[in-house]
Amino acid sequence: MADTKLYDILGVRSNASDGEIKKAYHKLAKECHPDKNPSAGEKFKEISYAYDVLSDSSKRSIYDQYGIKGLQEGAGSHAASHDFFSQVFGGGGLFGGLDDFLGGRSRSRKAEPVVHNLKVSLEDLYNGKTSKLQLMRLILCKPCKGSGSKTGQPSTCPSCRGRGYKVFPFGNSQRIQMQCDECVNGEVIRKEDQCTSCKGHKIIEEPKIIEVHVDKGMTENQKIYFKGEGNQGPDQEPGDVVIVLKVKPHETFKLKFRDSTDLCMEHSITITEALCGFSFSVKHLDGRVLHIKQPSDSVVKPGETRVVVGEGMPQYRNPYEKGNLIISFNVTFPENYFADEAKLKTLESLLPPRPAFKMPTGENVEEVNLQDYDPHQQKSHSSRGEAYASDDEEGHGHPGVQCAQQ
Ligand SMILES: [Zn+2]
Ligand SMILES: [Zn+2]
Repeated sequence: MADTKLYDILGVRSNASDGEIKKAYHKLAKECHPDKNPSAGEKFKEISYAYDVLSDSSKRSIYDQYGIKGLQEGAGSHAASHDFFSQVFGGGGLFGGLDDFLGGRSRSRKAEPVVHNLKVSLEDLYNGKTSKLQLMRLILCKPCKGSGSKTGQPSTCPSCRGRGYKVFPFGNSQRIQMQCDECVNGEVIRKEDQCTSCKGHKIIEEPKIIEVHVDKGMTENQKIYFKGEGNQGPDQEPGDVVIVLKVKPHETFKLKFRDSTDLCMEHSITITEALCGFSFSVKHLDGRVLHIKQPSDSVVKPGETRVVVGEGMPQYRNPYEKGNLIISFNVTFPENYFADEAKLKTLESLLPPRPAFKMPTGENVEEVNLQDYDPHQQKSHSSRGEAYASDDEEGHGHPGVQCAQQ
Protein backbone atom coordinates (compact mmCIF):
# COMPACT_ATOMS: atom_id res chain seq x y z
CA MET A 1 0.00 0.00 0.00
CA ALA A 2 1.23 3.45 -0.89
CA ASP A 3 0.26 5.30 2.26
CA THR A 4 -1.53 4.80 5.54
CA LYS A 5 -2.79 8.28 6.32
CA LEU A 6 -6.43 7.31 6.44
CA TYR A 7 -5.59 4.60 8.98
CA ASP A 8 -3.47 7.08 10.94
CA ILE A 9 -6.39 9.51 11.06
CA LEU A 10 -8.53 6.87 12.73
CA GLY A 11 -5.60 5.71 14.86
CA VAL A 12 -5.81 2.10 13.71
CA ARG A 13 -3.32 -0.26 12.10
CA SER A 14 -3.59 -0.83 8.38
CA ASN A 15 -4.74 -4.41 8.94
CA ALA A 16 -7.46 -3.36 11.36
CA SER A 17 -10.70 -5.32 11.18
CA ASP A 18 -13.94 -3.70 10.12
CA GLY A 19 -15.03 -3.80 13.75
CA GLU A 20 -11.90 -2.01 14.94
CA ILE A 21 -12.31 0.69 12.29
CA LYS A 22 -15.94 1.20 13.25
CA LYS A 23 -15.11 1.39 16.94
CA ALA A 24 -12.25 3.87 16.38
CA TYR A 25 -14.45 6.02 14.17
CA HIS A 26 -17.29 6.18 16.68
CA LYS A 27 -14.93 7.11 19.49
CA LEU A 28 -13.26 9.92 17.47
CA ALA A 29 -16.49 11.15 15.91
CA LYS A 30 -17.93 11.61 19.39
CA GLU A 31 -14.91 13.65 20.51
CA CYS A 32 -14.77 15.81 17.40
CA HIS A 33 -18.43 16.18 16.61
CA PRO A 34 -19.02 19.85 15.62
CA ASP A 35 -22.00 20.03 18.00
CA LYS A 36 -19.72 19.31 20.94
CA ASN A 37 -16.47 20.69 19.69
CA PRO A 38 -16.96 23.42 17.06
CA SER A 39 -13.22 24.05 16.69
CA ALA A 40 -12.62 20.47 15.57
CA GLY A 41 -14.63 20.83 12.36
CA GLU A 42 -11.71 20.04 10.06
CA LYS A 43 -10.71 17.07 12.15
CA PHE A 44 -14.27 15.78 12.01
CA LYS A 45 -14.25 16.05 8.20
CA GLU A 46 -11.02 14.07 8.04
CA ILE A 47 -12.40 11.37 10.28
CA SER A 48 -15.56 11.17 8.21
CA TYR A 49 -13.59 10.88 4.97
CA ALA A 50 -11.32 8.23 6.40
CA TYR A 51 -14.26 6.21 7.67
CA ASP A 52 -16.13 6.66 4.40
CA VAL A 53 -13.26 5.02 2.53
CA LEU A 54 -12.17 2.39 5.05
CA SER A 55 -15.66 1.18 5.98
CA ASP A 56 -16.42 0.31 2.37
CA SER A 57 -14.56 -2.85 1.37
CA SER A 58 -14.21 -1.92 -2.30
CA LYS A 59 -13.03 1.63 -1.56
CA ARG A 60 -10.66 0.30 1.08
CA SER A 61 -9.04 -2.20 -1.25
CA ILE A 62 -8.45 0.51 -3.87
CA TYR A 63 -6.98 2.78 -1.23
CA ASP A 64 -4.76 -0.05 0.08
CA GLN A 65 -3.50 -0.79 -3.39
CA TYR A 66 -2.99 2.74 -4.75
CA GLY A 67 -3.07 5.08 -1.78
CA ILE A 68 -4.18 8.69 -1.98
CA LYS A 69 -1.48 9.36 -4.55
CA GLY A 70 -2.75 6.51 -6.65
CA LEU A 71 -6.26 7.89 -6.47
CA GLN A 72 -5.07 11.25 -7.69
CA GLU A 73 -3.06 9.78 -10.51
CA GLY A 74 -6.16 7.86 -11.36
CA ALA A 75 -8.07 11.11 -11.42
CA GLY A 76 -5.49 12.76 -13.60
CA SER A 77 -3.18 11.31 -16.16
CA HIS A 78 -4.72 7.90 -16.70
CA ALA A 79 -8.07 8.44 -18.27
CA ALA A 80 -9.08 4.82 -18.12
CA SER A 81 -8.47 4.44 -14.43
CA HIS A 82 -10.09 7.82 -13.83
CA ASP A 83 -13.36 6.41 -15.08
CA PHE A 84 -12.97 3.47 -12.78
CA PHE A 85 -12.19 5.63 -9.75
CA SER A 86 -14.91 8.11 -10.45
CA GLN A 87 -17.41 5.28 -10.50
CA VAL A 88 -16.25 4.19 -7.09
CA PHE A 89 -15.74 7.61 -5.54
CA GLY A 90 -18.29 9.66 -7.41
CA GLY A 91 -16.08 11.99 -9.40
CA GLY A 92 -13.17 14.31 -8.89
CA GLY A 93 -14.56 16.14 -5.87
CA LEU A 94 -13.43 13.61 -3.34
CA PHE A 95 -9.90 13.48 -4.74
CA GLY A 96 -9.61 17.22 -4.40
CA GLY A 97 -11.00 17.09 -0.89
CA LEU A 98 -8.66 14.32 0.18
CA ASP A 99 -5.69 16.10 -1.31
CA ASP A 100 -6.57 19.32 0.49
CA PHE A 101 -6.88 17.93 3.94
CA LEU A 102 -4.13 15.39 3.69
CA GLY A 103 -1.78 18.00 2.26
CA GLY A 104 -0.86 15.39 -0.32
CA ARG A 105 2.33 15.86 -2.23
CA SER A 106 0.87 14.86 -5.53
CA ARG A 107 0.30 17.80 -7.83
CA SER A 108 -2.89 18.35 -9.69
CA ARG A 109 -2.50 17.56 -13.36
CA LYS A 110 -3.14 21.11 -14.60
CA ALA A 111 -1.34 24.21 -13.35
CA GLU A 112 -3.33 26.95 -11.61
CA PRO A 113 -4.88 29.47 -14.01
CA VAL A 114 -3.58 33.04 -14.16
CA VAL A 115 -6.70 35.18 -13.66
CA HIS A 116 -6.64 38.87 -14.53
CA ASN A 117 -9.44 41.44 -14.39
CA LEU A 118 -9.37 43.71 -17.43
CA LYS A 119 -11.13 47.05 -17.12
CA VAL A 120 -12.96 48.01 -20.28
CA SER A 121 -15.20 50.93 -21.21
CA LEU A 122 -18.66 50.60 -22.73
CA GLU A 123 -17.10 52.05 -25.88
CA ASP A 124 -14.68 49.08 -25.96
CA LEU A 125 -17.56 46.62 -25.66
CA TYR A 126 -19.59 48.45 -28.33
CA ASN A 127 -16.81 48.83 -30.89
CA GLY A 128 -14.48 45.97 -29.99
CA LYS A 129 -10.87 46.50 -28.98
CA THR A 130 -7.53 44.78 -28.85
CA SER A 131 -5.32 45.38 -25.81
CA LYS A 132 -1.88 44.12 -24.99
CA LEU A 133 -1.38 42.99 -21.41
CA GLN A 134 1.69 41.96 -19.50
CA LEU A 135 1.09 39.28 -16.90
CA MET A 136 3.39 37.34 -14.65
CA ARG A 137 3.33 33.56 -14.90
CA LEU A 138 5.41 30.64 -13.73
CA ILE A 139 7.32 28.70 -16.36
CA LEU A 140 9.64 25.72 -16.22
CA CYS A 141 13.17 26.97 -15.56
CA LYS A 142 15.03 27.10 -18.88
CA PRO A 143 18.69 26.51 -17.81
CA CYS A 144 17.73 23.25 -16.09
CA LYS A 145 14.76 22.44 -18.38
CA GLY A 146 12.53 22.19 -15.34
CA SER A 147 14.58 19.49 -13.66
CA GLY A 148 15.81 21.77 -10.86
CA SER A 149 19.31 20.31 -11.08
CA LYS A 150 22.52 21.33 -12.85
CA THR A 151 23.15 17.89 -14.23
CA GLY A 152 19.55 17.62 -15.44
CA GLN A 153 19.40 14.31 -13.68
CA PRO A 154 17.73 14.47 -10.31
CA SER A 155 19.23 12.00 -7.95
CA THR A 156 17.40 8.98 -6.85
CA CYS A 157 16.33 9.32 -3.23
CA PRO A 158 18.82 7.25 -1.27
CA SER A 159 16.35 6.72 1.53
CA CYS A 160 13.68 4.97 -0.52
CA ARG A 161 15.87 4.14 -3.51
CA GLY A 162 13.62 6.09 -5.83
CA ARG A 163 10.42 4.26 -5.08
CA GLY A 164 8.78 7.14 -3.21
CA TYR A 165 7.74 4.82 -0.42
CA LYS A 166 9.40 2.66 2.17
CA VAL A 167 8.57 -0.85 3.16
CA PHE A 168 8.62 -2.01 6.78
CA PRO A 169 8.15 -5.47 8.16
CA PHE A 170 4.92 -5.79 10.07
CA GLY A 171 4.29 -8.76 12.28
CA ASN A 172 5.80 -12.03 11.15
CA SER A 173 4.66 -12.35 7.62
CA GLN A 174 3.37 -8.94 6.51
CA ARG A 175 5.02 -5.80 5.26
CA ILE A 176 3.60 -2.29 5.10
CA GLN A 177 4.48 0.59 2.79
CA MET A 178 4.70 4.23 3.85
CA GLN A 179 5.24 7.32 1.74
CA CYS A 180 8.90 8.38 1.87
CA ASP A 181 9.25 11.62 3.81
CA GLU A 182 12.62 12.59 2.34
CA CYS A 183 11.75 13.02 -1.32
CA VAL A 184 9.04 13.77 -3.88
CA ASN A 185 8.09 10.68 -5.85
CA GLY A 186 11.51 9.14 -5.23
CA GLU A 187 13.51 12.13 -6.52
CA VAL A 188 15.85 14.43 -4.60
CA ILE A 189 18.19 17.17 -5.78
CA ARG A 190 21.46 17.34 -3.87
CA LYS A 191 22.28 20.85 -2.66
CA GLU A 192 25.43 21.06 -4.78
CA ASP A 193 23.49 19.98 -7.87
CA GLN A 194 20.66 22.51 -7.48
CA CYS A 195 20.14 24.77 -10.52
CA THR A 196 21.42 28.25 -9.69
CA SER A 197 18.65 29.91 -11.67
CA CYS A 198 15.64 28.33 -9.93
CA LYS A 199 17.45 27.09 -6.79
CA GLY A 200 16.06 23.64 -7.38
CA HIS A 201 12.42 24.81 -7.54
CA LYS A 202 12.14 23.86 -11.24
CA ILE A 203 10.02 26.92 -12.03
CA ILE A 204 10.67 30.66 -12.32
CA GLU A 205 8.43 33.70 -12.72
CA GLU A 206 8.38 35.32 -16.15
CA PRO A 207 6.43 38.20 -17.72
CA LYS A 208 4.15 37.18 -20.55
CA ILE A 209 2.54 39.55 -23.02
CA ILE A 210 -0.85 38.55 -24.34
CA GLU A 211 -3.08 40.22 -26.87
CA VAL A 212 -6.69 40.35 -25.72
CA HIS A 213 -9.39 40.79 -28.36
CA VAL A 214 -12.46 42.30 -26.77
CA ASP A 215 -15.20 41.45 -29.26
CA LYS A 216 -18.22 43.61 -29.96
CA GLY A 217 -21.02 42.79 -27.54
CA MET A 218 -18.91 41.16 -24.84
CA THR A 219 -20.14 42.06 -21.39
CA GLU A 220 -19.41 42.42 -17.68
CA ASN A 221 -17.64 39.38 -16.15
CA GLN A 222 -17.24 37.68 -19.53
CA LYS A 223 -14.16 35.45 -19.52
CA ILE A 224 -11.62 35.20 -22.31
CA TYR A 225 -9.47 32.05 -22.15
CA PHE A 226 -5.92 31.57 -23.36
CA LYS A 227 -5.60 27.81 -23.13
CA GLY A 228 -2.25 26.59 -21.91
CA GLU A 229 -0.61 30.03 -21.89
CA GLY A 230 -0.53 30.38 -18.12
CA ASN A 231 1.58 28.76 -15.43
CA GLN A 232 3.76 25.74 -16.11
CA GLY A 233 4.83 23.22 -13.54
CA PRO A 234 6.82 20.01 -13.47
CA ASP A 235 4.67 17.05 -14.51
CA GLN A 236 1.74 19.38 -15.12
CA GLU A 237 -0.30 20.38 -18.10
CA PRO A 238 0.22 24.15 -18.61
CA GLY A 239 -2.56 26.22 -17.03
CA ASP A 240 -4.74 28.80 -18.75
CA VAL A 241 -4.73 32.58 -18.68
CA VAL A 242 -8.24 33.80 -17.90
CA ILE A 243 -9.13 37.43 -18.58
CA VAL A 244 -12.29 38.64 -16.82
CA LEU A 245 -13.88 41.78 -18.25
CA LYS A 246 -14.93 44.49 -15.79
CA VAL A 247 -16.91 47.40 -17.19
CA LYS A 248 -15.88 50.88 -16.13
CA PRO A 249 -18.74 53.24 -15.26
CA HIS A 250 -19.82 55.47 -18.16
CA GLU A 251 -21.01 59.03 -17.67
CA THR A 252 -24.11 58.63 -19.83
CA PHE A 253 -24.93 54.95 -20.33
CA LYS A 254 -25.36 51.88 -18.17
CA LEU A 255 -26.00 48.23 -19.09
CA LYS A 256 -29.54 47.35 -18.06
CA PHE A 257 -28.36 44.01 -16.66
CA ARG A 258 -24.93 42.43 -16.57
CA ASP A 259 -25.55 40.44 -19.75
CA SER A 260 -28.21 42.58 -21.35
CA THR A 261 -27.87 44.24 -24.74
CA ASP A 262 -30.16 47.04 -23.55
CA LEU A 263 -28.58 50.32 -22.55
CA CYS A 264 -30.10 52.70 -20.03
CA MET A 265 -29.69 56.41 -19.54
CA GLU A 266 -31.37 59.22 -17.65
CA HIS A 267 -32.29 62.56 -19.10
CA SER A 268 -33.67 65.68 -17.42
CA ILE A 269 -36.25 67.83 -19.16
CA THR A 270 -38.05 70.96 -18.02
CA ILE A 271 -41.79 71.07 -17.42
CA THR A 272 -42.11 73.07 -20.62
CA GLU A 273 -40.44 70.27 -22.58
CA ALA A 274 -42.48 67.65 -20.75
CA LEU A 275 -45.73 69.35 -21.79
CA CYS A 276 -44.83 70.75 -25.18
CA GLY A 277 -42.45 68.22 -26.70
CA PHE A 278 -38.68 68.42 -27.03
CA SER A 279 -35.60 67.16 -28.76
CA PHE A 280 -32.08 66.57 -27.48
CA SER A 281 -28.88 64.92 -28.63
CA VAL A 282 -26.76 62.12 -27.19
CA LYS A 283 -23.28 61.13 -28.26
CA HIS A 284 -23.38 57.37 -28.80
CA LEU A 285 -20.61 54.88 -27.99
CA ASP A 286 -19.42 54.75 -31.60
CA GLY A 287 -19.21 58.54 -31.88
CA ARG A 288 -22.49 59.05 -33.74
CA VAL A 289 -24.72 61.80 -32.38
CA LEU A 290 -28.31 60.66 -31.93
CA HIS A 291 -30.91 63.39 -32.37
CA ILE A 292 -33.78 62.20 -30.20
CA LYS A 293 -37.22 63.76 -30.79
CA GLN A 294 -40.33 63.62 -28.65
CA PRO A 295 -43.42 64.82 -30.55
CA SER A 296 -45.39 67.72 -29.07
CA ASP A 297 -48.68 65.80 -28.96
CA SER A 298 -47.71 63.60 -26.02
CA VAL A 299 -46.71 64.50 -22.45
CA VAL A 300 -43.74 62.91 -20.63
CA LYS A 301 -44.43 62.55 -16.91
CA PRO A 302 -41.69 62.52 -14.23
CA GLY A 303 -40.06 59.07 -14.04
CA GLU A 304 -41.50 57.84 -17.33
CA THR A 305 -39.38 55.89 -19.77
CA ARG A 306 -39.16 55.85 -23.55
CA VAL A 307 -37.16 53.58 -25.80
CA VAL A 308 -35.05 54.08 -28.92
CA VAL A 309 -35.23 50.71 -30.67
CA GLY A 310 -31.97 49.26 -31.95
CA GLU A 311 -29.65 51.76 -30.25
CA GLY A 312 -28.48 49.45 -27.45
CA MET A 313 -25.38 47.25 -27.33
CA PRO A 314 -24.47 44.88 -30.17
CA GLN A 315 -25.13 41.18 -29.58
CA TYR A 316 -22.05 39.09 -28.90
CA ARG A 317 -21.14 37.12 -32.06
CA ASN A 318 -24.03 38.79 -33.92
CA PRO A 319 -23.04 42.45 -33.69
CA TYR A 320 -25.45 43.71 -36.36
CA GLU A 321 -28.30 42.84 -34.00
CA LYS A 322 -28.53 45.46 -31.29
CA GLY A 323 -30.53 45.95 -28.11
CA ASN A 324 -32.53 49.06 -27.25
CA LEU A 325 -31.71 52.35 -25.60
CA ILE A 326 -34.04 52.95 -22.67
CA ILE A 327 -34.30 56.55 -21.47
CA SER A 328 -35.89 57.53 -18.14
CA PHE A 329 -36.91 61.14 -17.78
CA ASN A 330 -36.67 63.47 -14.82
CA VAL A 331 -38.88 66.54 -15.09
CA THR A 332 -37.58 69.72 -13.49
CA PHE A 333 -39.96 72.39 -12.22
CA PRO A 334 -39.17 76.11 -12.00
CA GLU A 335 -38.74 77.77 -8.59
CA ASN A 336 -41.44 80.44 -8.03
CA TYR A 337 -41.41 81.29 -11.70
CA PHE A 338 -45.13 82.07 -11.64
CA ALA A 339 -45.23 84.18 -8.47
CA ASP A 340 -46.68 87.00 -10.55
CA GLU A 341 -50.48 86.69 -10.23
CA ALA A 342 -51.29 87.80 -13.76
CA LYS A 343 -48.94 85.17 -15.19
CA LEU A 344 -50.52 82.52 -12.96
CA LYS A 345 -53.98 83.38 -14.27
CA THR A 346 -52.71 83.09 -17.86
CA LEU A 347 -51.04 79.78 -17.13
CA GLU A 348 -54.12 78.37 -15.42
CA SER A 349 -56.30 79.40 -18.32
CA LEU A 350 -54.15 77.22 -20.59
CA LEU A 351 -54.00 74.18 -18.31
CA PRO A 352 -56.81 71.68 -17.72
CA PRO A 353 -59.34 72.93 -15.09
CA ARG A 354 -58.74 72.24 -11.41
CA PRO A 355 -60.69 69.37 -9.79
CA ALA A 356 -63.84 70.60 -8.02
CA PHE A 357 -63.30 71.45 -4.34
CA LYS A 358 -66.16 71.90 -1.89
CA MET A 359 -65.15 74.11 1.05
CA PRO A 360 -65.89 72.25 4.32
CA THR A 361 -68.05 74.11 6.84
CA GLY A 362 -68.87 73.76 10.52
CA GLU A 363 -67.22 74.22 13.92
CA ASN A 364 -64.83 71.30 13.56
CA VAL A 365 -63.20 72.73 10.42
CA GLU A 366 -59.74 74.19 10.98
CA GLU A 367 -57.59 75.84 8.34
CA VAL A 368 -53.87 74.92 8.51
CA ASN A 369 -50.84 75.86 6.43
CA LEU A 370 -48.42 73.66 4.57
CA GLN A 371 -44.73 74.30 5.22
CA ASP A 372 -41.58 72.91 3.69
CA TYR A 373 -40.73 69.65 5.35
CA ASP A 374 -37.25 69.15 6.79
CA PRO A 375 -36.90 65.99 8.88
CA HIS A 376 -33.86 67.36 10.76
CA GLN A 377 -35.64 70.57 11.57
CA GLN A 378 -38.68 68.70 12.93
CA LYS A 379 -36.43 66.56 15.10
CA SER A 380 -34.74 69.52 16.76
CA HIS A 381 -38.17 70.73 17.85
CA SER A 382 -38.48 67.64 19.92
CA SER A 383 -37.57 68.14 23.57
CA ARG A 384 -36.78 64.50 24.14
CA GLY A 385 -33.09 65.03 23.62
CA GLU A 386 -30.33 62.79 22.29
CA ALA A 387 -31.86 59.46 23.11
CA TYR A 388 -34.71 60.27 20.79
CA ALA A 389 -32.39 61.56 18.10
CA SER A 390 -30.24 58.45 18.12
CA ASP A 391 -33.30 56.18 18.17
CA ASP A 392 -34.26 57.75 14.93
CA GLU A 393 -30.80 57.49 13.36
CA GLU A 394 -31.97 55.07 10.69
CA GLY A 395 -34.21 57.70 9.19
CA HIS A 396 -31.27 59.87 8.12
CA GLY A 397 -30.81 58.18 4.82
CA HIS A 398 -34.38 58.88 3.77
CA PRO A 399 -35.22 62.52 4.11
CA GLY A 400 -38.87 63.25 3.65
CA VAL A 401 -41.77 60.98 4.38
CA GLN A 402 -41.78 57.55 2.81
CA CYS A 403 -45.20 57.94 1.23
CA ALA A 404 -44.13 61.03 -0.69
CA GLN A 405 -42.44 58.83 -3.29
CA GLN A 406 -45.42 56.60 -3.98
ZN1 LIG B 1 12.58 8.89 -0.88
ZN1 LIG C 1 16.52 25.74 -12.92
